[in-house]
Amino acid sequence: MVKSGSKLIETMVFIEVLYYPTNLYKLLARSAKISWGLSPEVIRTIYVAVIEPTILYAASVWAAAASKITVQKQLNAIQRGFAQKICKGYRTISLNAALIIAGVLPLDLRVQEAAKFYEAKRGRPLEHLDGGDLADREIEEKECFLKALHPASEEDIVFQCLENTDPQTLEEYHIVGNMIFTDGSKIEGKVGAALSRWLDGREVEHKKFKLEPYCSVFQAELYALWRAVEMATTHEVTNILSDSRSSLELLKNQREFHPLAVKIRKTLRNLRTQNKTVKLFWIRAHAGVAGNERADELAKEAALKMKVKSHYDRCPISFVKNKIRQSSIAQWDRRYQEGSTAETTKVFLPDAKIAYRFVRKARLTPTMVQVLTGHGGFADYLCRFKLRTEAGCFCDPDIKQDIWHIILDCPKFGKRRFELEMQINLQLKKENLSTILFDNSYRVPFTNFCTIVVKHIAALNK
Ligand SMILES: [Zn+2]
Repeated sequence: MVKSGSKLIETMVFIEVLYYPTNLYKLLARSAKISWGLSPEVIRTIYVAVIEPTILYAASVWAAAASKITVQKQLNAIQRGFAQKICKGYRTISLNAALIIAGVLPLDLRVQEAAKFYEAKRGRPLEHLDGGDLADREIEEKECFLKALHPASEEDIVFQCLENTDPQTLEEYHIVGNMIFTDGSKIEGKVGAALSRWLDGREVEHKKFKLEPYCSVFQAELYALWRAVEMATTHEVTNILSDSRSSLELLKNQREFHPLAVKIRKTLRNLRTQNKTVKLFWIRAHAGVAGNERADELAKEAALKMKVKSHYDRCPISFVKNKIRQSSIAQWDRRYQEGSTAETTKVFLPDAKIAYRFVRKARLTPTMVQVLTGHGGFADYLCRFKLRTEAGCFCDPDIKQDIWHIILDCPKFGKRRFELEMQINLQLKKENLSTILFDNSYRVPFTNFCTIVVKHIAALNK
């Protein structure tokens, strides 16, 4: 009984979730034709900002249903339309090809991502990520805002910007007594933090800390700051100098509940009640300030050489998000490779992972999308979709006029092809096409060649 009840809720949420995007899609379809109407970037924005979030709403409730064939079909139908419009491909384009060229992750995988992320944030073990290495790790969660002080009783945290630490500057900013320089470092995939305390122009004490490899530099910087404020509890006056402006800004912003920031603020508050003085400064990195250089060196040493249990091991949310994304791209790639469609696209974009990074930057033109999909005004394509009776080329009716013949073989474009090959110093053949596409200096002349050739063919086939 309970089971059927939860199934009902699952279905209801799902219907609700799909109703709105489907209608919006129909409206959009009318105003986003291939040759006019909304630009692909606008459609992408609508998709990313409206459609995806609507569908991903409460994804964790129905994520299990997203793997069912019927549900997947519905998700695919919505997504195919958007992906086709984002990449400006022909309407016959396969979902597999459209997603790759539009650089849009399959919706059912996005649903699973959203659900996984939600569960990770709620503290579910991360065993499904990174081959189980993160199974016993805890996510760095923001502190609950309820724990924060009432705004009226909060004191402002301020920091000043220092250009250097010569005697003149120190006098100008009334800097006397202890100076603690802090730094964090991520190097060769390892993370460390350090602080160096100076008095009267020389180092009197230093500390090094180790963080887990998945930690970010930002965490390392904040951790070093926290240890510096802790150290300040044993001194009357302390000046803390960090080169991480973002960490100091985070401290300043009382609405940010990063756990380390909350700890730092709390310690600073306690210090104030004990009438101890702590001043915070931002100092430009690598500007030749000895204390800062020293902290930097110590942090690097900590990262590379320390063999101790990590001082800080909370897994940053960004890392978890990244891992979840990597795993869904890998799943997407398997689906792309195994799919029976997108044969032409696979020649140009053999790998979903690389394609995903590439297509957004490359800004492929509609003509190039015709080339990459093989769906365009070519005799073979037109014949397949009953828009023409003969599939042969003008040069030889017995040779199929498909995209390969046009760009690689057709003698009609022999001269242009030869000139292109001379220019890029690479032979135009299937094995080289992905190299040509990914290389910026090859892609432009290749695109020019394709544009002329495809347009010429389309005009002849009219
Ligand atoms: Zn030909």
